Amino acid sequence: MSIWICKACGAHFAPSDDYPSHCVICEDERQYVPESGQQWLAREALTTIHLNEWDELEPNLTGISVAPAIGIGQRALLLQSPHGNVLWDCTAMLDEKTRARIQELGGLKAICLSHPHFYTGMVEWSEALGGVPILLHEADLAYIQRPSPLIEPWQGDRREVLPGIALHRLGGHFDGSSVLEWRAGADGRGVLLVGDTIHVVADRRWVSFMHSFPNAIPLPAREVSRIADRAAALRFDRIYGPWKEKFIPMGAKESVARSAERYIRLLES
Ligand SMILES: [Zn+2]
Repeated sequence: MSIWICKACGAHFAPSDDYPSHCVICEDERQYVPESGQQWLAREALTTIHLNEWDELEPNLTGISVAPAIGIGQRALLLQSPHGNVLWDCTAMLDEKTRARIQELGGLKAICLSHPHFYTGMVEWSEALGGVPILLHEADLAYIQRPSPLIEPWQGDRREVLPGIALHRLGGHFDGSSVLEWRAGADGRGVLLVGDTIHVVADRRWVSFMHSFPNAIPLPAREVSRIADRAAALRFDRIYGPWKEKFIPMGAKESVARSAERYIRLLES
C-alpha cells in the first residue's frame, strides 16, 4: 500500500495498492488536468529527492515549502504564539528535520487550512506531529482525498484557534475559503494569512478575488463586496499569500478595500 500524491496538485490520497483513477481537485473547474494527463507519485519515494526549506518572514512566522516543488509549490506558514504554534496551510511532504525542529519549538496546537488546494499532506503532518487537529471548513469536505479522524470540520464564519489567532470563513474561491487573523503580527498591527481567499496580484498594491485563478473565472460582484466587508472588520495591516511574492507589507487593509471597489466597478460597468 502506498500514499499516492497527485503530481499536479500535491493532494495525498488514502493508502492503496494501485494509484488512484482520477483527482477530484484537478478535475474541478478551478484547476485543470495537465495536457500530459494525471500522474502520481508514491509518498515513500519522495524523501530521497525533496526536502523542506525554511524562510523566516517576521518574528514568529516562518514559511515552509518543499524543494524541488511538488504540486503547485504550496507553502505552509508556521505561526508561533505564547499559547502554542499553528500551521497555516500545508505542503505535500514533511521531512524528518522539519518535524524535529517543529517539535523543538513546542510542536503544533492545530493545522488550519485555507482551502482544498492546500490540503496536500495535512494528514501526514498531523500524524507525524502527535495527531494535532486539522481544522478545515465543513463546506469543502467533498474535496478531502485522504480521510482521517484527525480532521475536525468547523462550521459558521469564525473559529478561534488560540487567543489572538482566529479563522474566518470569507468564502468566494471555495465555499469554505478561509483566512487566519493573527492580531499580534506585524508588530501588533495585525497580519492576515490569506491563502487564495484574497489574492495578492503582480502589482502588490492590489489584490484580487477569483473563482478560478488558472482558468480566470471571476466571482460575482456581490461575493466580492461581501468578502471586502468581512475583511474590513478584521485587524490587519499586512498580508501573506500562499507564495513568497504574494505579500503586502503594509496598508493591506486599504489594498483590499480599494481592490474590491475596482473589481465591482469593472464588473458592473
Ligand atoms: Zn490533483
